[in-house]
Parts: sequence; C-alpha cells; structure tokens
Amino acid sequence: MKLLDDLFALQEIDKEIAQLRSSQQRLPQKLQRKKKEVQDSKKKLNDIEEEIKKKKVLIKEQESLLLTCESNISKKQSQLNSIKSNREYSSLLEEIKTFKQEKANLEDNALGSMEDLEKLKAKYEEEKISVQKVESEYQEFQKEVEQDLAQVDAEMAEVQKKRKEQRSIVEQQDRQTLLTYERVLSVNGKDGMSAVDEGSCGYCRSQLIPNEIVGLKSGNIIFCKECGRLMYFIDMISNISY
Ligand SMILES: [Zn+2]
Repeated sequence: MKLLDDLFALQEIDKEIAQLRSSQQRLPQKLQRKKKEVQDSKKKLNDIEEEIKKKKVLIKEQESLLLTCESNISKKQSQLNSIKSNREYSSLLEEIKTFKQEKANLEDNALGSMEDLEKLKAKYEEEKISVQKVESEYQEFQKEVEQDLAQVDAEMAEVQKKRKEQRSIVEQQDRQTLLTYERVLSVNGKDGMSAVDEGSCGYCRSQLIPNEIVGLKSGNIIFCKECGRLMYFIDMISNISY
C-alpha cells in the first residue's frame, strides 16, 4: 500500500533525525565532562599550593620558637656563673635540661616540617605535569568534537531536506494521517508507527480487536488506541529493509 510505504519511509528518516539529534546533545556533554577533569586537576594543584604556603608559615613559626628556646638556654647558662648556693645551681641545671629537651623536640618538629615541604613540592611538580596533560587532551578532544558536530549538523541538514520531500509525498495522499503521525512522533521524538505482532501493538502490546485487524488488512488507517502509533503489518510494507 503506497501510503503506508511512504509513511514508513518517512518514519525511517525521522529515526535518523532522532539519532542525529541525540549526537548533537551527547557530544557537548562529553566535552563538558572532559572540561571538568581539567578543572578538577587545576583545583588539586591549587590545593597543594595552599598547603605549601601553610607549611612555610608553620616552618617560620617553628624556627622562631627554636631561636627563643636557644636564647633562653644561653641566658640560663650565663646565670650559672653567678650562682652561689648548690640548691640554686642544681635547680638552674634542671631548668636548662628542660629547655634542652624542648629544643630537641622543636628541632624534630622543624625537620619533620621541612621533609613535608619537600614532599609537597614534589607533589606540586607532578600535578603540574598532570594539569598540562589533561589540558592538552582537552584541546585535542575539543577539536575532534567540533569536527564531529559540524559533520552531524551537515548530515542533519541533508536529512531534513530529505524529510521535507518525503513529508510532502505523504501529505499529498492523506494530510490528516500525516498530522496524526507527527503528533505521536512529537510526543516520543523517535517514531509514530508500530508493527502488529501476534495481534498486538508491537510497541505497547495493546491487543487489537478483530475488527481492527480486518480493517488494517483491507487497507484502513488504524492508530493504536493505547500509544497512538499508526499500525501496520510488516508484510504490508514493500520497502522494508530488514
Ligand atoms: Zn500501541
């Protein structure tokens, strides 16, 4: 039947359009995900930079504490010469011992901080290389996506032209059926026809009544009462390609 054949051909074009439209949406999303990788990597680099700054401040503080402690020790040591009583002398020695213990602790801390700083600096250099890598990957990918999108757009323009021609072929035969088909198509965005499969709509499985089957076979236009798709038997379509 010519009308069904022509509608079926229109639906094939509409499926192509749906696929191209999905590529037009998917490609920029892929690019967006890649961009996020670059941003994440840059943020990591910034975080390390912040940690380095904080560590440097801490090291300065630790150095100043160490200086104070050292000056306390030498003050106490010079006092030793002017001490008269044994009791005072041993008490001062005790104080010096405590300061020396504190000094040793401060030196350990300062050394630990220096080691941390070196590790952070190495981590920073590593992350810097990683940022450069994802950034150049992104630029490469961006070029690819732009080329792919341009190709998809060109294909879309071509297919839309084909659709216009096919649409007018159908319109000349049955404008009302065409408009109903297009209404169903606009709802789901992909198709507007459904093959009958074992007496049911192949899409939504709604059962056809015997009258509908007889009507379809004698060439009537029948839409599925559930999903609204235009029904057909596969053997009624002569240009089917599977
Ligand atoms: Zn249906």
